[in-house]
Amino acid sequence: MAEIKLACDCGKVQGHAHDMDAIKGNRLTCCCSDCQAFAYYLMNLGRGNNPTILDQYSGTDIFQMPISKLTIDQGVEEITCMRLSEKGMNRWYTKCCNTPIGNTLGGNMPFIGVVHNFMRHQTSRVGEIGQNRAYVQTHEIKKQIPTALKGSSSKAILRSISKLISWKLRGFHRPSVFFTQEGNSIVTPIIKHKSEIMQNIKTN
Ligand SMILES: [Zn+2]
Ligand SMILES: [Zn+2]
Repeated sequence: MAEIKLACDCGKVQGHAHDMDAIKGNRLTCCCSDCQAFAYYLMNLGRGNNPTILDQYSGTDIFQMPISKLTIDQGVEEITCMRLSEKGMNRWYTKCCNTPIGNTLGGNMPFIGVVHNFMRHQTSRVGEIGQNRAYVQTHEIKKQIPTALKGSSSKAILRSISKLISWKLRGFHRPSVFFTQEGNSIVTPIIKHKSEIMQNIKTN
């Protein structure tokens, strides 16, 4: 049973992903413009010495896992949330150092896509959660991703959907660090529209 350490850059927020590995979760890289906007939002707020969230293809390396398998051991009061629209995904991050935590759907969905920056691998990322299965939502990016890296996005998405269904059936949406028992977000999300973020990009 693999435990994966979680922490923000400054170390105030710490937690664990329990009983997770390449088979139990789903590692993929999302290139959608919403994930990019979230990365720029955090970079605009300031990411200190470690600004990098996006890879060279503007992708965000994430690990999809059941929300109930993620616990926060300290610093929960530093956790906050933003959305790119009234009804968008909840995008969680830490106030202390603007480290992305992950993306969730509503409070009754059993899933979080943990952003790579929040995972502190003790051995290696590949060793703990496997290779990136695929790049998904690549239609909006300009740079060509080599076929060897790209993988099958349709396979990876099908895999996410089947995981989601099985996690929901197994009740893995509770308990949740991010939502109350009634399914309400623990903090009121900050709404910041994509256009506003992208207008104000700061390059370090
Ligand atoms: Zn921090
Ligand atoms: Zn995305």
